[in-house]
Amino acid sequence: MSAGKIVFTQDRIRRRTEEIAREIAGAIPGGDLHVIVTLKGALFFAVDLIRALGREATLGFITASSYGGGTESSGEVDLRTEDIGEVAGRHVLIVEDIIDTGRTLKIAVAAIQSLGPASVRTAALIDKPSRREVEIDAEFTGFRVDDIFLVGYGLDCDQEYRTLPDIRSLGP
Ligand code: 5GP
Ligand code: MG
Repeated sequence: MSAGKIVFTQDRIRRRTEEIAREIAGAIPGGDLHVIVTLKGALFFAVDLIRALGREATLGFITASSYGGGTESSGEVDLRTEDIGEVAGRHVLIVEDIIDTGRTLKIAVAAIQSLGPASVRTAALIDKPSRREVEIDAEFTGFRVDDIFLVGYGLDCDQEYRTLPDIRSLGP
């Protein structure tokens, strides 16, 4: 397979990210903000979103893997939290790339809640509502898509295509 046609251009991603940053700025109260990035897919979105937020924040990282390789979720999520940072008593913003079945985000939110944050909010660049298997949504969503597999702007297929500047469908 190879990266197919562009679904979201760099420019469209940038404009939408700036809009989301404004929504977040209006919704998250002042005080300590801790941004938790889900690696590796959300890396590009997180950097652009954090810069657009223009607000002091500390950073943490979690690594979630559910794809053994290929384009179908294995259904089991392996969550690594050793770099999650200081969560207790702070406003947390989780930055996720895609919500698909919802399992990753649900497990990530539960792990963060167990550490006693002041609040937890989630921003996802892409949502695939038709694929949902567990009940969860992000407060801030960039784009909604149907059941297509996307690569680029951090999103991979078997670790390939992450560095593409725009988001593309994976074509034959
Ligand atoms: P969930 O646990 O919601 O089923 O899976 C979410 C994770 O699966 C996302 O964070 C992402 O890493 C991966 N994923 C879901 N859909 C896609 C997609 O279209 N492209 C890529 N590259 N990853 C996806
Ligand atoms: Mg992810």
